[in-house]
Amino acid sequence: MVRKEVKNHQAVAHAETTLKKIRMVRGGQELNGAHKVFGAAYRLLDPDGQSPTVTRSGFRDFIHPSEDRLCTVRELARLQTFPDAYEFKGRRCDTYAKSRYVTQTQHEQLGNAVPPLLARALAFSIRRQLFERQVPEPRSHTPGILRVIETLDGHYPEDNLGNKENPLDELIYILISRRAAERQYVPVYTALHRRFRRWRGLLGANPQEVSEILRPAGLASQRTKAIIGCVAAIHTDFGDVSLSRLRRWSNSRAYNYLRTLPGVNDKVAKCVLGYSLHRDVLPVDSHTLRVSTRLGIIPQDTSYFRAPALLEASVPEGSRLRFHVLCVLHGRAVCRSRRPDCSRCPLRRLCPSAPDYLE
Ligand code: SF4
Repeated sequence: MVRKEVKNHQAVAHAETTLKKIRMVRGGQELNGAHKVFGAAYRLLDPDGQSPTVTRSGFRDFIHPSEDRLCTVRELARLQTFPDAYEFKGRRCDTYAKSRYVTQTQHEQLGNAVPPLLARALAFSIRRQLFERQVPEPRSHTPGILRVIETLDGHYPEDNLGNKENPLDELIYILISRRAAERQYVPVYTALHRRFRRWRGLLGANPQEVSEILRPAGLASQRTKAIIGCVAAIHTDFGDVSLSRLRRWSNSRAYNYLRTLPGVNDKVAKCVLGYSLHRDVLPVDSHTLRVSTRLGIIPQDTSYFRAPALLEASVPEGSRLRFHVLCVLHGRAVCRSRRPDCSRCPLRRLCPSAPDYLE
C-alpha cells in the first residue's frame, strides 16, 4: 500500500509487455533466456533472502516480492538503509538521456550508494581505532582485583543505583546524570518523565520547555539537544520511540548503534548495556576512574579515552559491571574526590594511595 506521507514511493503502472516479463521471473531469480532485456536484470526479490546491491539501473532491476510491479524509489532506499526522512530530489528514472548529466536522478543517487548504516558503522569504527582503541598490551588480571571486589562487596550489598530496566529510560536518565550530582539529576529526571509520560512526546516538544525542566541539573541546552536528538534519531531509525529491540542484539551491535546517537559516549552506551540489557560491561565514570587510579589498578594519569581498555584488561569478565557499581558506591561514600576518608576505608591495607600512618 502506498502511504501518502512517505516520499519517493510512487508506484507506476506498467505496460502489458513489462507485466508479462515481471510475471515470468521466479523468486530470487532474474529474467533470462530470450526474454532478457538488454541492460535490465528484472530480479524478483526474495523476502527471505539477501538483496543484491541496488545499482543505478534499479528502476528496472528489482521486482517487488509480492506485487506485480517494480520497486519504488523508497523501497529501494529502504534496502539501502536510507532512513525514511531522507528525500530524493530530481527526476525519478535514469533514462540515459542527456538530461541526467544536468539533474541527478533519484535512482542515480541511490545506486551503489554506501548504505548509511554501513557508513555510520565505518565512521564509528575508524574513530574508535584512532582515539579510543589504544589497546594496552594484554596482561593477566591484576592479582589484587578480585580481593578489591570481594572486600567492597562485603561493604556495599546494593546493586542498584536508581538505574532503569527500560533501555530508553536508562539512556535519558544517564544523559541527565552526566556531570551532575545525584541530588540534582534524580528530581530532574522525575520531572521530565512526569511531563513526558511517553518519551514520544519529546518528538514535537518545545526545546525551551525541555531546557527549563533540565535547568536544575546544569548544561540544560546541551542535554536538551542530546535528549531530543536521541528520541528523533531512534524514531527515524526504528519508526517508533523505543530501544527494546536492542535486547535481542549482540553487545557490539547494540553498543555501536547507541554510539551513533547524539551525546552518547562510551560510558552512556555501556550504562544502557549494563543496567538495562544486563550485559557485563565496564562503564568508566569519574568514580570508577578515581578509585581505580588511587588503587593503582591503572596509572594515575590515565585519561577517559584509555581507561576503558586498560580496566577491561584488568577486571575479569563476569565482574565488570559489579566493579563499576562498587567503585561508584565507594567513590561516593569513602573514596571521595576531595578528602577521601582513608581511615575508615576497608581497602586501606591494599591501597598504594593510603597514607603511611594507616598501615
Ligand atoms: S585507602 Fe583512601 S585512597 Fe585508597 S581506596 Fe580507600 S579511600 Fe580511596
